[in-house]
Amino acid sequence: MSTAIPTLADDLVQLLSPGQVSTGESILEQHSHDESYHRGGRPDVVVFPESTEDVVKVIRYAAEHRIPVVPFGTGTGLEGHVVPVRGGISIDVTRMNRILEVRPDDFLVRVQPGVTKNQLNEALKRYGLFFPVDPGSDASLGGMAATNASGTTTVRYGAMRDNVRSLQVVLPNGEVIQTASLAAKSSSGYNLTALFVGSEGTLGVITELWLKVHGIPEKTIAARAQFNDFQSCVNAATAIVGAGVPVSRIELLSQEFVAAFNKYKGVDFPVVPTLLIEFRGSEQGVRIDVELAEEIARDEGCLGFDFVIDEEARNEMWEMRHNALYAFMHQFPGLGHMSTDVCVPLSKLPDACTFAQRRLKETGVRGAIVGHVGDGNFHVSIALDTNDHADLQRVHAYNEEIVHHALKLGGTCTGEHGVGLGKMKYQALEHGPALAVMRAIKAAIDPLHIMNPGKLIDEVQAAH
Ligand SMILES: Cc1cc2nc3c(=O)[nH]c(=O)nc-3n(C[C@H](O)[C@H](O)[C@H](O)COP(=O)(O)OP(=O)(O)OC[C@H]3O[C@@H](n4cnc5c(N)ncnc54)[C@H](O)[C@@H]3O)c2cc1C
Repeated sequence: MSTAIPTLADDLVQLLSPGQVSTGESILEQHSHDESYHRGGRPDVVVFPESTEDVVKVIRYAAEHRIPVVPFGTGTGLEGHVVPVRGGISIDVTRMNRILEVRPDDFLVRVQPGVTKNQLNEALKRYGLFFPVDPGSDASLGGMAATNASGTTTVRYGAMRDNVRSLQVVLPNGEVIQTASLAAKSSSGYNLTALFVGSEGTLGVITELWLKVHGIPEKTIAARAQFNDFQSCVNAATAIVGAGVPVSRIELLSQEFVAAFNKYKGVDFPVVPTLLIEFRGSEQGVRIDVELAEEIARDEGCLGFDFVIDEEARNEMWEMRHNALYAFMHQFPGLGHMSTDVCVPLSKLPDACTFAQRRLKETGVRGAIVGHVGDGNFHVSIALDTNDHADLQRVHAYNEEIVHHALKLGGTCTGEHGVGLGKMKYQALEHGPALAVMRAIKAAIDPLHIMNPGKLIDEVQAAH
């Protein structure tokens, strides 16, 4: 591929402009990985489209010359999705970052894919609206749709799949389609929006999104609940959600995470398993919800339940959650990061979580548990030494155990991070014959296999 590089970049400059094409070392390196430990290739060239038309030009060129294409949002993925395992063109959409339309009466916005979640929420404030899907990173909305991201608020507002109304997509042959109308419901045709959400750049490039937005509620209260032991903490979370208390967030931090955060931020929270909970609604409704949640938590052995009402204090509290990963990894300079991401039916969460916690202790893997426990989804964040074969093997074996256990409980290998490179090996086990249907869809839409090859369900296995 190396002798072709000058031609490839020159051709792309002809199609776009010199400032939109880069083969600079640091740019290629930046586009060869995400925030995970996965490595295994780099792009030959990175392009920065500024419009749908730019994307169409690049894709048509790539299809004509059968060059692999990898869409790139903000590169915060955790499963190596953006690693260009067969080189080619990395399409970085960060310059497509305009909010194109806000329709407060329809609770809809139209955005380009490079707009980030925080950027959108900042712009929506003046309309009294917000976009609810809240991963811990300030990811691009295109990347969030492509991975079906979710996060702290999913228990109340759903994942990306529940909050995308329609997508504009450039298909692998350069055609542009709109996946759905703007109607709130439709029985017309296959659900293409749901297909492209979660497709991880393997079926096309998302170039515009119509997203559902929500009114900012009258009252928000957050609470911190501390427990003596991990099991009681998980039980309380499932009991609160199971009782139908309409929490808008309920997040679990194991004591290892609290200790890491204390060190990282120089604060002094009690080092015990902790639930961070948020309630939204009317003044009166929220008070009733908080009382009920506290009662349930105390029944499960809660040691302390304190409220956080003013906005600044609430933001500080959620900062603890959003910084959990960085705080944990800060303790292990030079090590790589792996995150498990299983999701199980809610009633099985205590089983799955305590199994993961017990096996951490037994295997000596350096990990800590954090969870979107209202959805049955939790992560073990793991620090691993990618240069130490024994450590890699131990961590992979641990991850595999967690996944197999979750599948036995009726769960999935990935609740929100996606498959990328890291979870490909579980696809056959999780999906059985349905995997052949997915492969048929991939072959029909991308017969030349140019879109993010070697990922998700692609038979072209990646070396990583
Ligand atoms: C600290 C931290 C916390 C996190 N917390 C969460 C969490 O709570 N919940 C959660 O779900 N995730 C979480 N993540 C993972 C990550 O932020 C999400 O997966 C996010 O959706 C990735 O978005 P991105 O813009 O960074 O996409 P990238 O990493 O750039 O790309 C991800 C995938 O999407 C594809 N893609 C990107 N843009 C497009 C496009 N326009 N069209 C087609 N395909 C595209 C790429 O090809 C790739 O396959 C976290 C990550 C970090 C680092």
